[in-house]
Amino acid sequence: MSNLTWQIGCVRVTRIEETLTTIPLTSFFAAATPEALAPHLPWLRPHFVDAQDHAILSIHGLVVESQGRTILVDTCIGENWPESNPLERSALLGDPTSPFLGNLERAGFQRERIDVVLCTHLHFDHVGCNTMRVDDTVVPTFPNARYLFARTEWEHWRAQEDPGFAATLRETVEPILAAGLADLVECDHVVTDEVRLEPTPGHTPGHVSVRIASQGKEALVTGDMAHHPVQWAEPTWGIAADSDGAQATRTRQRILAQHTDDDLLIIGTHYAPPTAGRLVRRDGRVRFASG
Ligand SMILES: [Zn+2]
Repeated sequence: MSNLTWQIGCVRVTRIEETLTTIPLTSFFAAATPEALAPHLPWLRPHFVDAQDHAILSIHGLVVESQGRTILVDTCIGENWPESNPLERSALLGDPTSPFLGNLERAGFQRERIDVVLCTHLHFDHVGCNTMRVDDTVVPTFPNARYLFARTEWEHWRAQEDPGFAATLRETVEPILAAGLADLVECDHVVTDEVRLEPTPGHTPGHVSVRIASQGKEALVTGDMAHHPVQWAEPTWGIAADSDGAQATRTRQRILAQHTDDDLLIIGTHYAPPTAGRLVRRDGRVRFASG
């Protein structure tokens, strides 16, 4: 399997897949009635919606190479599942084993090569391979990396009492802090001269996207500010897991106002291949144009 790659000036981005899954659009987005979806289906098919009108979603990580640094954005679901909440994970992954670390290594990125791990937020499908089990001990997967977590995000989730979230933190975030590999950073943290965090709150309070700018070219890794390309046409559509749906809508509307019909490459964190595209206006409606 060849991995999708994008070149943004001097920066190279490589998509490392964990899995693809489908979910009925109408159950993912409460507002997605058949009537509301109809005008968008022609451009959503075949890459982002299948023949049954289910959303096709991807779980993947993105390796960003910039100025000699190898940065892994999000670490998928993994196998290191807290016992309290395994069903949701196995339903998404379809299998108790995850191919993510194997795919990463086959792409030439051995675990030891990763300099920075960056989690757009702390939901389980973005932090799963932060850690791994070795002889029943949970250890950091990327021993030579600094792990960047937005301080706002960490402080929000550590105060939650939901056992599922608590288990995710216990398995995938707290061991990183305990090992001294974590940096709690601001939501606009600069990673390299070409790569920085950009606050995109709403899905979670400390949610960040990743802005790449090099040699006049720009890209934005979405994280979960927009789970599916249809949300660029319908920015008010949110999902049940959004912490603050109104704020998530405002975040998407800001990106639309700034970047519709410009050259920004949007690289989706849950977008099925071809995964990346631009925001364009056609016949008075915005769509996500890939390829
Ligand atoms: Zn997600």
